[in-house]
Amino acid sequence: MTQKDLGYVELEWTCPRCKGRNPGTQATCSTCGAAQPENVNFETPAAQAAVTTDQAKIDRAKAGPDIHCGFCGARNPADAKVCKQCGGDLTQGKAREAGKTVGAYGETDAGAKVKCKACGEENPAAAVTCAKCGAPLGKPAPAAAPAQAAPAPSGLGGGSVLIFVAIGLIVVLGLCAFVFFGFRTSEKTATSTGAHWERSVAIMGMVPVRAQAWQNQLPSNANNVSCRSERRSTSSSPQPGAREVCGTPYTVDTGTGMGRVVQDCEYEVYDDYCSYTTLQWAVVNTVVEKGNDFAPRWPAVNLTGDQKLGTRNETYVCELNDGKNNYTFTMRTQAEYEECLAGSEWKIEVDGFGAVVSAVPVN
Ligand SMILES: [Zn+2]
Ligand SMILES: [Zn+2]
Ligand SMILES: [Zn+2]
Repeated sequence: MTQKDLGYVELEWTCPRCKGRNPGTQATCSTCGAAQPENVNFETPAAQAAVTTDQAKIDRAKAGPDIHCGFCGARNPADAKVCKQCGGDLTQGKAREAGKTVGAYGETDAGAKVKCKACGEENPAAAVTCAKCGAPLGKPAPAAAPAQAAPAPSGLGGGSVLIFVAIGLIVVLGLCAFVFFGFRTSEKTATSTGAHWERSVAIMGMVPVRAQAWQNQLPSNANNVSCRSERRSTSSSPQPGAREVCGTPYTVDTGTGMGRVVQDCEYEVYDDYCSYTTLQWAVVNTVVEKGNDFAPRWPAVNLTGDQKLGTRNETYVCELNDGKNNYTFTMRTQAEYEECLAGSEWKIEVDGFGAVVSAVPVN
């Protein structure tokens, strides 16, 4: 994040004694003459103006925070050696705090008004005292804030929580029962009624596929390229060709009655992101050979020049019957499969879903 300087504006402070508003650079109240106490903060002015071109005020803002006299409390510029009010030595004084955000910055529209609390007269926002009765004017009322939504009902009532807990408990118990009975196995004796095998080979070919990449990362065989500009990265500092994105300007207290207007910006770097066509190996066909004998064979494969062999798969299934139900069991190896001769006896474990979990030949 880069903090951009937009310039300086004069802040204001409100006299705690008479409620009169005063320009930030002024150390004593123009209505009652009281000095600004150290604990009275600078605020966004009631009428925000464009950043100042007054070099004296800019120099003042850059000089560093003002110092409150250690003897009388009066505010003096950073470069003063003795208090302008009591003549006291300012090295005993205390510098004002600086660096806090005062508020958002934006020029007030010219028609903004502030209403006199004493007589009701509408005065221009910049006015400090009422044109009609002379009373000090407060801050203009803030723009009507959207009506506060009614607070959301605070969660669920105790009763419905109990119902949810009960439903949750039932679901959990149901799942436990399902798992328990589903995976509990029973042992049976079964006879082989048949067997079958299947072997397959995938055939790979070069297939055009659409892919996407940044322009400088396109593969050499990319064609049919179409690009569009997209954000590639975000930088905290300015970059050539980057798009600057800035937040709302805001004012920072300098401790002098002047505010420094700044804006946080970052820089979006754009680049060409392209979609393109390239050739990639992909499965173009799968050839399969099946049988129900005990001499499994791989399917015959005829490759053309731009093809190659892909994954091979083989499955061997033993068909069983326990006198009541038919079962199938997929053998782990061809050697196991070869024991599944018709009429052979097997000890099988069947789970609650009717699936054979294990099968061992009975000798
Ligand atoms: Zn005052
Ligand atoms: Zn003093
Ligand atoms: Zn008035």
